[in-house]
Order: sequence, then C-alpha cells, then structure tokens
Amino acid sequence: MIIVNNIDEMHDLSNKWRQDGKSIGLVPTMGYLHEGHLSLINAARGENDIVVTSIFVNPSQFGPNEDFERYPRDMEADSAACELAGVDVIFAPDAQEMYPEGYTTYVEPGAIGQRLCGVTRPIHFRGVCTVVLKLFNIIQPLNAYFGQKDAQQYLILKRMVADLNLDINLHRMPIIREADGLAKSSRNVYLTPEQREQATMLFAAVKKAEQLYRAGERDSATILAAMSDELAKASLAKVDYLQIVETDNLLPVQHIDREVLVAMAVYFGSTRLIDNTILG
Ligand code: AMP
Repeated sequence: MIIVNNIDEMHDLSNKWRQDGKSIGLVPTMGYLHEGHLSLINAARGENDIVVTSIFVNPSQFGPNEDFERYPRDMEADSAACELAGVDVIFAPDAQEMYPEGYTTYVEPGAIGQRLCGVTRPIHFRGVCTVVLKLFNIIQPLNAYFGQKDAQQYLILKRMVADLNLDINLHRMPIIREADGLAKSSRNVYLTPEQREQATMLFAAVKKAEQLYRAGERDSATILAAMSDELAKASLAKVDYLQIVETDNLLPVQHIDREVLVAMAVYFGSTRLIDNTILG
C-alpha cells in the first residue's frame, strides 16, 4: 500500500491503471476509520482491481461554527486499517493541495442540498459535491462507494452523477451499527458517557418507524409522532429535524405509497448525530 499526497502523482497512477485496463474502486472518507468505512472498502476490494481510499477532512463542507478544527484525525491508525483491508492507495492531500490560492469553482446541488441537513448546514452539500467531483476527476474510478448512513449525501451525489453525465457507478452500502444500535460515526467520540447512552434512541426511533410500517401504517404523521416519543426518552437530545420525504426531491410525504426516506438529525450538546431508514 502507498500513501499519495500529491494530485499529479495520483493522476499519473490512475491514468496508468486505466491504460492497463484496470478497474478502480474509490472509497471517499474523512478518515478516523471505523467498521462503517471498512465495509465500503471491503465492497470495493471485492469488485475492483485497484482500491483507493481518500482521507481528506474537506474544509469546504464545514460551516464556520462547525467542527472542522477538532474533527478527529489519526493517520497512523487509518493507514494500518487500510493496509489490513487490502487498500492499494491512500490518497491524502492537504487542504492547500485541493484548494490552492485562487480557487473559485464549486458544484451547487440546488434545492435538494438545502433540505434536511441542508437547513442547518447550508453550504455542506456544495462542499461535498465539489470535493467528490474533484476526487472523481483525480482518481477516475469506475466504482465509488458510499454509506446509507449519509442518505442525503448519497442521493445528492447520485443526482450529480446523472446531471453531469459522469461515467461512474455509485454503490450505496448499509449502515453499520454499534452493538446497541448506534450508527458508527467518527463523531461518536465527542459524546459524553451519558450522551452516548441516550444516543441509542435514534436507532430506537428508526426501529419504531420500520415496525409501524411493517404493521401496515402508512400515515407519516402517525409514524413521526411515535418516533418523536422514542427520541423524547433521551432527555439530553435536541431534535434538529425528523422527516419522512421522497427519495428523489427530499420533499415531505404525507401518505407513504412509494419509496420514502425517514431521516433525522439530533444534537447532543454540540454533537450532531444522524440516522435514517428507507421504507417501501
Ligand atoms: P465520513 O468519513 O464520515 O465522511 O464517511 C465516509 C463514508 O463512509 C461515507 O460514504 C459515509 O456514508 C460512510 N459511512 C460512515 N459511517 C458509516 C456507517 N456507520 N455505516 C456505513 N457507512 C458509513
């Protein structure tokens, strides 16, 4: 396994692999890797000749009062995990390499980037789309792997790939959870023991929605009310949003007669956790 920090060097490697007819699988991450990331890497390993994992805490997707500075980083542990998982290349540029002086171009995802997480994080998905398109251009993957954990991100990127005619297959992998149901996240380390204990209520709410749907409930308001009751059990939680929306335009759905995304974001102090499920 090699670690590449330089865009030209990464470009040269990708070009050579493509000329040799090798398929490249890309797993974009912000590092501090856990089993969620590793599930994407394993999927990429099974389906491609070359696996590239990018590790880049992307400044353009963080708002001014967000956790860019304190976002956890551990390149040594990440390298060991990638090596073990059979990654060929870690692409780990610094911010200066990706956004040099004079940088001005951004990918704007439109209205779907302003819904759900976009309400409290208005520039987030513009940053995500921009960095992912740059990674696609630098690494030229045939396949790219993303987690269902970030459901809105996946749907927006799928839209970007269609809208900009990118010749890349996106793969959405299931949410990997802790034993008690909390979705694995690099940000879980921010939680105090008490917050961590209460954070299982997100999964309790997800399960409640799935259970009601299985029992035949199709009214969004009824499902959302039952989910709110679950979240209310976490006294330290402050709900940012809890919604049932269409999977393409992310607009609210009253009656569930098609595929919907049930999504939430919940604050524990300044730590923001997300979870979701797809019904139908
Ligand atoms: P991040 O490093 O948090 O930006 O995540 C990088 C990729 O890993 C994204 O596609 C995430 O959706 C995915 N991911 C993060 N956590 C999980 C998880 N618990 N299960 C599955 N995929 C995940």
